[in-house]
Amino acid sequence: MCGIVGYLGKKNASEILCDGLKKLEYRGYDSAGIALLNGSGFRVLKTSKRIETLSKTVSLEKSQSKIGIGHTRWATHGEANKQNAHPHLSEDGKFAVVHNGIIENYLSLKEELLKEGFNLKSETDTEVIPMLLQKYYKKDIKEAVKKTLKRLEGSYALAILCSDYPDMIIAARQFSPIIIGLSETEKAVASDITAFPEDINNVIYLKDGQVFCPSFV
Ligand code: GLU
Repeated sequence: MCGIVGYLGKKNASEILCDGLKKLEYRGYDSAGIALLNGSGFRVLKTSKRIETLSKTVSLEKSQSKIGIGHTRWATHGEANKQNAHPHLSEDGKFAVVHNGIIENYLSLKEELLKEGFNLKSETDTEVIPMLLQKYYKKDIKEAVKKTLKRLEGSYALAILCSDYPDMIIAARQFSPIIIGLSETEKAVASDITAFPEDINNVIYLKDGQVFCPSFV
């Protein structure tokens, strides 16, 4: 299990996310990635090298996105490579997910999704989550999240973005830590308080089974 960061605010999300991931680097990891949401959908950048490599790629992009999520992975299912690194997207590209923990029943969920025609591309347990969100999303985001979480057995800290809601990060936990950070102009999520941007002055500790949606809506 490694680390999660998420940011929504007035600053450049890509820089904040890379800074946050660097602060989680001490926990160890084997690969890392971020997803940035902008007008044309998600831009996903990943590396199986150091966070510094990710930061350099990210800064070349000159992204202006104000919302994104990031992850440092400690592989439990599937090799440590770029394909398996998080964030993972739904097939329709509407959902991006980062996950810490283990989805114990992922094999049966994967089988079900493959039968229904979903095209899963990684070897991870995590990828079933964005696919389930796509399956259950019928314009009601709360319902889709609720139905998806109900299907998951095991442990998770999750940060989820949906391209239909460019002002919202969904955070959820079950036996893995995730915290919410707030300031007047920013919302953040992280596995560890050290990864928050400096202006965050209010922290909410999610309890097991809780879902929280920091948003500007
Ligand atoms: N089980 C997930 C994977 O193998 C998440 C691992 C983690 O917590 O970093 O991709």
